[in-house]
Amino acid sequence: MKNEKIPYVNLSKQWKKERKILLKIIDNVILNQDWVGGDEIKKFEKNILKFTNTKYAVALNSGTDALTIGLALIGVRKGDEVITTPNSFIASAASIVHLGAKPIFVDVKHDQNIDTSLIENKITKKTKAIMPVHLTGRMSDMSQIIKLSKKYSIPIIEDAAQAIGSKYKKKPAGSFGKVGCFSAHPLKNLNAIGDSGYMVTNDKKIYEQAKQLSNHGLKNRNNANRFGYVSRMDTIQAAILNYRLKKLDKTIKRRRENFKYYSNYLDPKNIYFPIEEKYQFNTYHTFVVQTKNRNNLKQYLLKNGIGTAIHYPIPIHLQKSSKNLNYKKNDFINTEKQANQILTLPINENLNKNDIITISNLTNQFFKK
Ligand SMILES: *Cc1c(COP(=O)(O)O)cnc(C)c1O
Repeated sequence: MKNEKIPYVNLSKQWKKERKILLKIIDNVILNQDWVGGDEIKKFEKNILKFTNTKYAVALNSGTDALTIGLALIGVRKGDEVITTPNSFIASAASIVHLGAKPIFVDVKHDQNIDTSLIENKITKKTKAIMPVHLTGRMSDMSQIIKLSKKYSIPIIEDAAQAIGSKYKKKPAGSFGKVGCFSAHPLKNLNAIGDSGYMVTNDKKIYEQAKQLSNHGLKNRNNANRFGYVSRMDTIQAAILNYRLKKLDKTIKRRRENFKYYSNYLDPKNIYFPIEEKYQFNTYHTFVVQTKNRNNLKQYLLKNGIGTAIHYPIPIHLQKSSKNLNYKKNDFINTEKQANQILTLPINENLNKNDIITISNLTNQFFKK
């Protein structure tokens, strides 16, 4: 067996492919002196609507700030509760905590997304939002969440950081909630060359307020209705994203093809991964398998030149930062079990069929030993 080096991601490969064009784009932005705001930002806010099927978008500096501003604008305040999952990146909960609210965690299903059958029991008078996380680029079970949202008049805010272009029953991520929040962190499917994020909504008021809140709270040059933040997307990043947006469909297509190869070549006897349901269109930000032998498999793949990752080894409720939230071990059985069993295999758009076969064969071989 040949020892091919397949890193988990390869950002410099992406850069080398685009370098000539991007350097020119960056140079243009700098020469135009549009360093903050400007045409590229406006263009980005228009371009992204095609992928989210919403009316408005706000370019921001991170997915985390998109969540924070989104939560603030749907009215989450000190003492409120927001229902979400402990099986996510730490920022989902951090954005809630920073507004003085409490994340009310709900366990996940086998597919790592929120178990909607457990949500209703957690709704109280203090519940001000439901925040599903579309982990791995697979949408949460939105039908159920929408039903609850309507029944109790609680707005939905989507943590769609990993899910640009993903769909549920043909409807795109970000178009279900009052607000949809996305990240363009370098590791996301649509990635900047630094931190970036964006928020989408169909609500004009929320859009206008988000624009202001992300820009010092300024309504215009000299008037502020409220104190705001500095959460604007850098113009350079917007220009880069505008270029990369043209390739997003292809990126998603390549990742979906790679998933198909994994489905064909991975022996499912010893590992589990969710299939793609008919009503889903997954974008495979990550490809996560579950196995009791995770740590040894990770070692074995690394020894054979395959880079992998774990998203995420410590559930949010068990992080030190969550101490004051008063959760404990065994509170969320599936989340905790998955934390020990999940392994993210490389699936990025730069990998081809042969790469996926190599990884699959090595994985199958590991279990035969
Ligand atoms: C990446 C990510 C975020 C945070 O996005 P940033 O742009 O890094 O702030 C939030 N939630 C989830 C699920 C993410 O994957």
